[in-house]
Amino acid sequence: MTIVYGERSFRYETDGSRVSRVPLEHPTGRRSTVRVGTHNARVPGPLGTTRWSHDSAGRLYQEVEVQVIDKAHLAMHGLLTPCWEATVEQLRLLDATLALVPPDHLQRLLRAKPDGFHVVSSTPRGAGTSYMGGANVANDDPLTSFDDTRCILITHGALWQNRHLGVCPTALHEIGHVMTRAGNGLSYATFDADRERELRLAGASGEVSRNPGELEALCNAYMYFLCYGADDPPVRRFGDRPTDPQRDRRTRDALRALPAFTRLSGDWQSRYRER
Ligand SMILES: [Zn+2]
Repeated sequence: MTIVYGERSFRYETDGSRVSRVPLEHPTGRRSTVRVGTHNARVPGPLGTTRWSHDSAGRLYQEVEVQVIDKAHLAMHGLLTPCWEATVEQLRLLDATLALVPPDHLQRLLRAKPDGFHVVSSTPRGAGTSYMGGANVANDDPLTSFDDTRCILITHGALWQNRHLGVCPTALHEIGHVMTRAGNGLSYATFDADRERELRLAGASGEVSRNPGELEALCNAYMYFLCYGADDPPVRRFGDRPTDPQRDRRTRDALRALPAFTRLSGDWQSRYRER
């Protein structure tokens, strides 16, 4: 099933003889029981309460029934990005998220991950299993048992956590991992030595990401920078925090000078100017 998002409607294509076009308000899909995780049990979950279940390892989640669409395509910048097993609300979040991604970066994402995004209950990684965050198999998550290098995994918990922001920062972080691949132009090359060391250490310590790694804080910096380029004031503010080395002026100046951003069109570069 294919959905193209635009003009307040979805277009569906089916592999069988089912739906051809359905309005946004009445999407088809199937019921699925999923787990939505949290980092903060004091905040009500999708069940509307703060009663969270926990699995044998103590990880918190609420189990809910949702309507998911097996496969959708979000149309953005003239490209179609596949999204698997997302709800309509999640497709809206992912659509708004893709609007923050420069077309050149989205092209590189789809070349590396032709199956786009797959929304899952957990990122299965043995003891590192989590109901939060995302996973980028073969980039930051070589140990996962989920055998799929063609897509990025995003948990229901990650989409739930930032739904009020209207975008999914986790998805941007995972695109950042793709952008750190050779030739894609995201690296520490333009960072001064102190800042590079600071970010590498923060990433390696595991304090910024579930998976410790020296690129984790760089991918966060990329995520915040794309948010800084947003028109929506809350999203822009989310991307700007002078006390956080991942989203302060010094890091933005380094990011602006990277090939990932210098090769963008003038329109896109101007989004990231200091204001
Ligand atoms: Zn990561």
